[in-house]
Amino acid sequence: MLTDIVVVGASVAGVEAVLALRGAGYDGRLTLIGADHELPYNPTPLSKELLTGEMAEDDIRLLPAEEFEDLDVDLRLGTAARALDPAERKVDIGGSDVPYDGLVIATGSRAVRPRGWFGLDGVHTLRALDDARRVRAAMAQGRPSVVVVGAGFIGCEIAAAARHFGLDVTLVEAAASPLLRAVPSELAAPVVRLQRANGVRVVCGVGVARLLGSLRVDKVELTDGTVLDADLVVVGVGAVPATGWLDGSGLSVDDGVITDATLQTTAPGVYAVGDAARWPHPTTGDSLRVEHWTNAREQGRQAALNLLDPQAAQPYTGVPYVWSDQFGERFQLAGTAHAKHLHFLDGGPAEESYLALLGDGEAVVGAVGFNGSPRQFNRARRLITQGTPWAEAIAQHQ
Ligand SMILES: Cc1cc2nc3c(=O)[nH]c(=O)nc-3n(C[C@H](O)[C@H](O)[C@H](O)COP(=O)(O)OP(=O)(O)OC[C@H]3O[C@@H](n4cnc5c(N)ncnc54)[C@H](O)[C@@H]3O)c2cc1C
Repeated sequence: MLTDIVVVGASVAGVEAVLALRGAGYDGRLTLIGADHELPYNPTPLSKELLTGEMAEDDIRLLPAEEFEDLDVDLRLGTAARALDPAERKVDIGGSDVPYDGLVIATGSRAVRPRGWFGLDGVHTLRALDDARRVRAAMAQGRPSVVVVGAGFIGCEIAAAARHFGLDVTLVEAAASPLLRAVPSELAAPVVRLQRANGVRVVCGVGVARLLGSLRVDKVELTDGTVLDADLVVVGVGAVPATGWLDGSGLSVDDGVITDATLQTTAPGVYAVGDAARWPHPTTGDSLRVEHWTNAREQGRQAALNLLDPQAAQPYTGVPYVWSDQFGERFQLAGTAHAKHLHFLDGGPAEESYLALLGDGEAVVGAVGFNGSPRQFNRARRLITQGTPWAEAIAQHQ
């Protein structure tokens, strides 16, 4: 029986693991270690409501401080795990070790920071609450020219927030279209329209050559020679798993901590979840690392239950799901959008809204919705979970 469980990473996945452990009746020692000094918070509003001021910091806390006490969690904030020794079953937190008999790794991911870009003031990434505070302060100060580098979900949301402050915004994307990692350009078309209609200059197919300024950034030079004014630069060019602290631990790590389908790593009693984990999806067989809120929560929970009862361990079978809110409109993706077949159940990319179904030739593998009915989207999402044959799904909706 386990008596000393440690969870490393005090965010969405880590807090969910803690809740699930106590919820399942685990009453041994429970330690939650988090590098951030902040009481755990939900990162998803950082690029949306928290930036615009529609939400306050208190609104985004995952749990009130008293609840951690009620749950009898030894919450160690501002504490980074430095190393893991799976043979001795201990986590090095710099100067001391925390022993465990069960461990959940939930250290998430960190923003990519291209080399040479961050020597100047006024250049930010947006991953943690402190980043959001800095970006918000700069926007609220009325820095007139904002360049957002990277038109993924977070970059598009930051551009929308900057327009909320009435700033002059250019969104620069090296790929041919925004959101290309997530969806084909056809499905991203309404997002581009939305951004442009709200005054964002969207520049695609051009990279950033360098940032210019002395002390403070004042220009961004693009690879085609264009020079943009920039009082504030926010870089959203992706994230990488925060697994450096596991170097030398012997755990298998390859763009994420490698786990089996039940989220157990290559070390006994050690599970990995959320943005930091890479697991084989039992239905599709794909090796996945997913950077979405729902995945982090669900995996945190599943790993906790599997850790408590390994004999009854269940594979994690969740279908990736992400939403993005921009200018009051919602974009949603479930499963994968890069698939062989595409069928619009409702609307289309040239219209105000759409709901698209994606298929791999046999089954429904994805659903993408722009601004449509949530109920319809959820129905489409269920088609993926149920592995509904493509032909049947299309026939149902004819
Ligand atoms: C600005 C922003 C907006 C987002 N919007 C959406 C959205 O709209 N929809 C959606 O589905 N997803 C969104 N996401 C993604 C979603 O928030 C993440 O997938 C989710 O937070 C992952 O949870 P996690 O617990 O695995 O990792 P994280 O949230 O990354 O948390 C990891 C935690 O571990 C800590 N940590 C790291 N290293 C160590 C260490 N060595 N020792 C101790 N602690 C450590 C970090 O400080 C952090 O608190 C967004 C993310 C960001 C940053």
